[in-house]
Amino acid sequence: MKPPPPPPEPLRAATVDAHTHLDACGATTPELLAAAMDRAAAVGVTRAVTVADDLASARWVVDAAGWDDRVVAAVALHPTRTAAVTDADLAEIERLAAHPRVVAVGETGLDYYWDFSPPEAQQRVFRWHIGLAKRLGKPLMIHDREAHADILRILREEGPPPVVVFHCFSGDAAMARECVDAGYVLSFAGPVTFKNAPDLRAAAALVPDDQLLVETDAPFLTPHPHRGRANEPFCLPWTVRALAAVRGVTDERLSSCARRNAERVFRLGELPSSPSIGTSGATDPRSA
Ligand SMILES: [Zn+2]
Repeated sequence: MKPPPPPPEPLRAATVDAHTHLDACGATTPELLAAAMDRAAAVGVTRAVTVADDLASARWVVDAAGWDDRVVAAVALHPTRTAAVTDADLAEIERLAAHPRVVAVGETGLDYYWDFSPPEAQQRVFRWHIGLAKRLGKPLMIHDREAHADILRILREEGPPPVVVFHCFSGDAAMARECVDAGYVLSFAGPVTFKNAPDLRAAAALVPDDQLLVETDAPFLTPHPHRGRANEPFCLPWTVRALAAVRGVTDERLSSCARRNAERVFRLGELPSSPSIGTSGATDPRSA
């Protein structure tokens, strides 16, 4: 991957990156994490939710959320990592997810694009994560790749937790309508800026103001016009501006609206601040 692009023009109102992977962006130490969040803050992205996709990453995100007040965490086993899950793995995810700076159970869901784990295993672990979100009273953060119908069906069968976020929403207008009617929150990433995504923009246009988030999913899905370069939380303004244009509002209004929604959905106002709490106690898997 080519290095990240030069920074965009700063947003005029602060916003929150609702889904990113700071470890995969290379921000693996307290100093590098602070530098990445300084670059983000310089363009108006004042907070980020850093998301785990496996057990090592889950330990890391909990530590990272203890390093910097601007960073909170989400933990789960990604659907592509569900082929050989043990009870001990699930017990550790449950323990990490209970940490006060873990604001969501995710990313979990179904991925029928990649062939790393059979659908049955993915569905079983997705159902377990739905139960975990309910036990903890935390939002469920969903990864849905080419699995729209099964995601919606399993949520109905299990009964969704009070807050459900579709990370990097990838459905069309009909799916967005169904999610909105169910009370789900839709988070939009770089693809909303892509030329070949008119159906996604039609979906983004109809989401009510209070059910919308913005995210980078960095280091992946870098927004247009920088596709092919590495993504970082500081790249969020390109997505914010594209989404504002689709919805016919100012960048400022879109930024503020997404920030307020992130604060409400992830209860950012109720968090203990990072230096006052311990870390997961895990050793850094990347120092080995
Ligand atoms: Zn992700």
